Amino acid sequence: MKNKRAAIFTLGCRTNQYDGLLIARSLMDAGFVIVPFKEIADLYVINSCTVTHRGDADSRKSARNALRRNPEAFMVVAGCYSQWAKDAISKIDGVDLILGNREKLNIASFLPEILTKNTEPEIHVSDPTFEESFGLDVVKPTGKSRAMLKIQDGCDQFCSYCIVPHVRGNPRSLGRLKVLSRISELAAMGFYEIVLTGIHLGIWGREFDENLVDLVRAIDDLDGVFRVRLSSIEPMELNNELLDALLHSHRICRHLHAPVQSASDSVLKRMKRPYSISDIIPLFDKLKSADSGWNIGTDLIIGFPGETDDDFNNGIENLKKTPIDYYHLFTYSPRDGTPATVGKHWVSQDKIKSRLNKLKAIDSYSRERFVKSQSSTILTFVIEQKDTRIDDTNIGLSDNYIKAQLYGNVFNLGIQEARLYFDQIKGIYAESIPRES
Ligand code: SF4
Repeated sequence: MKNKRAAIFTLGCRTNQYDGLLIARSLMDAGFVIVPFKEIADLYVINSCTVTHRGDADSRKSARNALRRNPEAFMVVAGCYSQWAKDAISKIDGVDLILGNREKLNIASFLPEILTKNTEPEIHVSDPTFEESFGLDVVKPTGKSRAMLKIQDGCDQFCSYCIVPHVRGNPRSLGRLKVLSRISELAAMGFYEIVLTGIHLGIWGREFDENLVDLVRAIDDLDGVFRVRLSSIEPMELNNELLDALLHSHRICRHLHAPVQSASDSVLKRMKRPYSISDIIPLFDKLKSADSGWNIGTDLIIGFPGETDDDFNNGIENLKKTPIDYYHLFTYSPRDGTPATVGKHWVSQDKIKSRLNKLKAIDSYSRERFVKSQSSTILTFVIEQKDTRIDDTNIGLSDNYIKAQLYGNVFNLGIQEARLYFDQIKGIYAESIPRES
C-alpha cells in the first residue's frame, strides 16, 4: 500500500478520538499516507459513533460525503455504529468493509492487497470485549501542550438508555505502572497536561483490585512539571475517600465532570442509575466548600421516556441546591435494544424544547457565576496556542477549566500563572504573573 492516501474521520467521545489514532498507526505501518478527511483519498475510514441517533446519522452522512469526493475510494465503516448496526451499514451504497471495535485497531490486516471496491461489503465484527493494547506508542495531542491518554475501556453498568456496554464490551484498564510510566513519558515529550480518558473511568483498576484513589496518589508521587485532568467520573464512583485524594492532590486539576444525567430521583431510578440526587449533592458541596475553585460540570438527558412536568420541575429545584458550574445538555435519543425504549411514554418534542431552553439558561447563568467567582484570583494556565486575533496574547486553559486570553510576556508554550478577569468588553482574560528569575 505504499504511498496510498488514507483519510480517517472519527466521531463521538474522547475515547473514540484516541482510537482514531490507533487506526492511523495501523494504516501508516502498512505504508499509507494519512491525509485530511476533506481531501481526495484512496481509502476512507469512518470511525463511527452510535451513542445517539445523531451519531448514527453523522456516521452515515460522512461515509456518503467521502464517496462523493471519490466514488472509487475503498470505504471502511468501523467502530461503535458498526458494532451495533452492521446490517444497516451494509445497505449504504459504496461501503466495502465493516469492522467492529476490536477489528478496527488492526484495520490494515483486513484490507485487500489491492484496493478494489467490493460488490457487497465484507463484515468483521466480533465480541467487543478484548484485550486492549491501549496504544502506548501513539500520542493523541489536544492542542500543542495537552495530550490525551486512554487508560480504561468498556462498561458493565447497563444504564437503561445506554448502548455503550453493548458496543464497548466489559471494563478493562491499563495497569498502574503502565499509566504512570506513560504519563512521565508524555510529560518528558513536552506535554504539560495529560487528560486521562476512558469509557467508564471511575471504575479504573477494578479488575485488579485497585481504584482511582490508588492511581491519584501514585500520580502525585511522580516527578516533572505537568498536571493531570480526569475526563469524567460517574457519580456512583464518587465517595469521600476519592474526594479527599482529589482535594489533597497537587497534580490533579480542580475540575470534576460527573454526569448525573437527571436531577429527578424517579427518572434516575428508571434510568437504572444507582444513586439519588440527594446522595450526590453533599459530595459536590464537599469539594466546593473545601476549595471554591473546583469547577464542577455535569451531563443531563432531557426528555427521558416518562419524564413528567413534576419530574422536570423537581429536578430544577434540586439543581438549585447543587453547586454545579456547567451543564452538557442532551436530548434523549432512543437506542434500539435498550430497556428505556420499551413501552414508555414519549415526551413531546415541544416539551423537550422548552425544557432544554430552561436548562440552557441555567447553564449560562452557572458558567458566568463560576467565572465571576474566580475573577481576580491567580490561576495556573497551560498555554495552548498563540491568539492570532490580538498581538502578544495566547490562549490558555486553567487547571479549573477556564479558557482565557492571556496578556503579558507569555511567549512560550508551558505552564503560566495569571490573574483572571472578566468584563463585558474583553470577555474572559488573564494577566500573566512574571516568573521570579
Ligand atoms: S455508566 Fe451508564 S451511561 Fe455510562 S457508559 Fe456505562 S451504561 Fe452508559
